[in-house]
Amino acid sequence: MYTDEMRASIRKVEETRARRLEEKHPRLAPEEKDALLKGFHPDYREDTQRPVRVGPSAGDRMPHEMVDLLEARSLIDAGHVPLDAPEYDVDVLVIGGGGAGASAALTAHEIGAEVLLVTKLRLGDANTMMAQGGIQAADKPNDSPVIHYLDVIGGGGFTNRPELVRALTNDAPLVIKWLEDLGCMFSKEADGTMQTIHGGGTSRKRMHFARDYTGAEIMRTLRDEMRNRCIPVIEFCPALELVLDDEGKCAGAVLKNMETQEGMVVRAKTTILATGGFGRLHVSGFPTSNHYGATADGLVMAYRAGARLVFLDATQFHPTGVAFPEQMLGQLVTEKVRGIGAQLVNAEGEQFVFPLETRDAVSSAIIRECQERKKGFATVTGQPGVWLDSPMIELIHGPGTVKAQLPAMFRQYERFGIDMSVDPILIYPTLHYQNGGVEIDEFGQSSQIPNLYIAGEAAGGIHGRNRLMGNSLLDILVFGRRAGRHAAERVAGIRVGKPSLDHIKDFDEELEGAGLGKACSPMLLPDYVGR
Ligand SMILES: Cc1cc2nc3c(=O)[nH]c(=O)nc-3n(C[C@H](O)[C@H](O)[C@H](O)COP(=O)(O)OP(=O)(O)OC[C@H]3O[C@@H](n4cnc5c(N)ncnc54)[C@H](O)[C@@H]3O)c2cc1C
Repeated sequence: MYTDEMRASIRKVEETRARRLEEKHPRLAPEEKDALLKGFHPDYREDTQRPVRVGPSAGDRMPHEMVDLLEARSLIDAGHVPLDAPEYDVDVLVIGGGGAGASAALTAHEIGAEVLLVTKLRLGDANTMMAQGGIQAADKPNDSPVIHYLDVIGGGGFTNRPELVRALTNDAPLVIKWLEDLGCMFSKEADGTMQTIHGGGTSRKRMHFARDYTGAEIMRTLRDEMRNRCIPVIEFCPALELVLDDEGKCAGAVLKNMETQEGMVVRAKTTILATGGFGRLHVSGFPTSNHYGATADGLVMAYRAGARLVFLDATQFHPTGVAFPEQMLGQLVTEKVRGIGAQLVNAEGEQFVFPLETRDAVSSAIIRECQERKKGFATVTGQPGVWLDSPMIELIHGPGTVKAQLPAMFRQYERFGIDMSVDPILIYPTLHYQNGGVEIDEFGQSSQIPNLYIAGEAAGGIHGRNRLMGNSLLDILVFGRRAGRHAAERVAGIRVGKPSLDHIKDFDEELEGAGLGKACSPMLLPDYVGR
């Protein structure tokens, strides 16, 4: 599958391999890292972002693609929605069928609340399903939630909300136990102890995994449990707007049936938004590792209803997205590949960065290598990339390790005639994760809108400006469970007032006053027609 030019570069990679086995590339000093980020990370480029002009976060810089959606009108005509005749009336409405939504629904149901989960595609069509590398939790004798906390805060550049990180790292061992009790099959040693490895920016081996399909195994477990408990799920019915009551408290949502195109109203005492991230906005023109439904719908809905968005100027580009073959462009190559020994090398076969620096730094180093130093490899279509020397894994851990440890990834490449245990693979950063989101407290409650909760990638503040690998699968479960519990425990004391969509009308007026609002949002699905 590789071209002759690629083969020539691969030979250089092979020539330096034996030497590199002994060679440890130095870590970046703090000032080097700072300069690298400022020079090459897309977040720092002047032309990638602008301040949003309306709404609760007016003045905050965000990617243009996000601002375009926030400065748009609603898809619904707020004056013509039959709010007084809801199709469903429940205690807890969960919006989003990924890991955060499912864990919130399960926990709320455990407490005895009447729960309804609605989702845009099918239950499990979600980024959670695609996660490969692992989930962090400090549950080994040489580790502790405090050490985990320090790693998270360091990885986030000391910008994280401390109370959220405390919740994340303290609950982590409980979440692993919960998953295991539900039947999640993590990879284990022969004696039954959990296998754990390092991830970028972690000081201990605390990454738990199920081979290289950790997210799929977690989502399978949660989905099975949802089905076992007969928790009602409505698929292919995305939420378009949140409903507030006459006191400004969240009171449910307006949905759209994608098959019939009809609207539906759900009245709820508490609502949990778990709609995931914004990868499909293709921020700064990058390819993405995300699923098709990752279009920031929850952020748009919460924003119109009055919730503040935080850290949206920080986007995570995963250093190792597929650069070749083009059919797999942007698809994730899990950090685990570097975690178990693969080095990053340029077209000359030289290492240029310590492989397990934080993701923002590794991505920036790859962009620098290709753009400034001109030492990347460009494919025939002009796609730049550097080599991820995956055959090193076999040299370090023995023949057969790649296939055993990375079976899904191995098969994906095999379909295109590439054996990643023998040849290195070409990679380039891919848009991977939305570091920011809706502002929450440690129970997942919106800081501005009573009775609204946000969990998972749609929430902001936990990871500050940079998430470490394995902490998102963790946060969706920690905050999914926290939100589910808190939302369910409070329903007995909640009386829903008169439902209203006046916030949409008010937002439309604000848009009109600013001369904005030509387009409509949320996006729901990306439009690739003609591309
Ligand atoms: C390829 C890949 C690999 C990853 N690997 C790892 C890893 O190894 N470790 C780690 O910690 N993290 C990893 N991550 C990140 C992590 O998987 C995600 O951040 C996390 O799973 C997000 O979970 P979520 O429940 O918040 O969102 P999702 O899992 O994306 O679920 C969101 C759900 O909301 C639905 N939805 C969206 N809009 C609407 C709407 N308007 N109405 C109703 N429903 C809606 C979607 O259809 C979807 O079902 C990875 C991500 C990707 C893409």
